[in-house]
Amino acid sequence: QPVLGILGGGQLARMLALAAAPLGVNTLVVDSAADACAGQVAPLRLADWTDYAALEKFAAEVDVVTFDFENVPAETAHWLAERVAVFPDPRALAVAQDRLAEKTLFRQCGLQTPAFEAVDTRADLDRALAAIGAPAILKTRRLGYDGKGQFRIKQLADADAAWAALGAQAAAHGLILEAFVPFERELSVLAVRTREGDFRIWPLTQNWHTDGVLSLSLAPAPEVGALQQRAEDLARTLAERLGYVGVFALELFVKDGQLLGNEMAPRVHNSGHWTIEGAVASQFENHVRAVLGLPLGDTSAHGLSVMFNWIGDLPDAAPVLSTVDAHWHDYGKQPRPGRKVGHATVCAADAQSLALRVAAMAQALKRETQAEPGLSALS
Ligand code: ATP
Ligand code: MG
Ligand code: MG
Repeated sequence: QPVLGILGGGQLARMLALAAAPLGVNTLVVDSAADACAGQVAPLRLADWTDYAALEKFAAEVDVVTFDFENVPAETAHWLAERVAVFPDPRALAVAQDRLAEKTLFRQCGLQTPAFEAVDTRADLDRALAAIGAPAILKTRRLGYDGKGQFRIKQLADADAAWAALGAQAAAHGLILEAFVPFERELSVLAVRTREGDFRIWPLTQNWHTDGVLSLSLAPAPEVGALQQRAEDLARTLAERLGYVGVFALELFVKDGQLLGNEMAPRVHNSGHWTIEGAVASQFENHVRAVLGLPLGDTSAHGLSVMFNWIGDLPDAAPVLSTVDAHWHDYGKQPRPGRKVGHATVCAADAQSLALRVAAMAQALKRETQAEPGLSALS
């Protein structure tokens, strides 16, 4: 049986392993965190991402390497790629790790972005703010996730506070200032490309974030019209430019009906979790297929799906377990504020039945689900 090596042992690795099993593919997960990927997959423990002695053993035991974690140092990915097949290519990973390189590539591919400027010094920040204006968002170029490493500048006078928050990271990671986009909606494209260049996307997903963390996804996103084809063309151009193999997500803002690129994730993505129950082939299954050189599965949706993220701690499972066509995912993690500890997906054949199921379930959960905007999008 082929063995798929996964760098990073979070819930994405676990869901990849669960999708790999019926394909006859074994998985070996490596991580440096002691509490990584609680549950089914026991990760091989690394001292850190430069623990080459352990990585040497890992490389010898696997046929293909892929990522659960996008911030594996580029040098580690390159080192592995000299020993074993690594998908996506470490060069694609390097672009997606850097918000500046990523947005520059988006523009080269014809995808507009919010206005942005590189910021390395306090003087750069003033120059960038003068060019972009307020409101704006200062972000670290590297290593941010779930809204971490960001500061929202509401007015020009916030520059000192922004620098106090992130200036110390300017030297190591670089910063980027982006115009704040008062978008109409957020969409994501989940896309997959094989080694041979076969390319597919799932129906567009609409996403809602709370405090910078994804809280709810609805798929297929309602009333996207021509945006579906436009997003597919852009994602394909991007994938071909990067020689990308595997699944990736492209996060988009819709402003005045036009798409703007926010960022890409060079891996399976939280906004694609609905594909496990809501699509013919899930993002996890197609990622495994793509990186192992197998034909892709169908990316169409069965009906409609809503995914709730459980952030911080899990709610009572019973209301989800007793909802028709609802699916519970407990990642087996310790609760911690802001941490993604699980999700639930509710599926239905049409928007009306989905709205009824979700409303009943949300009420039974007796806690804030952030479902309201998604529910109004359904009606
Ligand atoms: P992720 O967990 O998706 O990797 P991240 O930390 O990389 O998150 P972003 O995707 O850059 O962060 O930002 C998180 C959210 O903050 C976005 O999905 C969006 O809702 C909001 N946001 C980010 N940048 C902008 C912007 N320029 N204008 C308006 N809203 C923004
Ligand atoms: Mg990100
Ligand atoms: Mg994001």
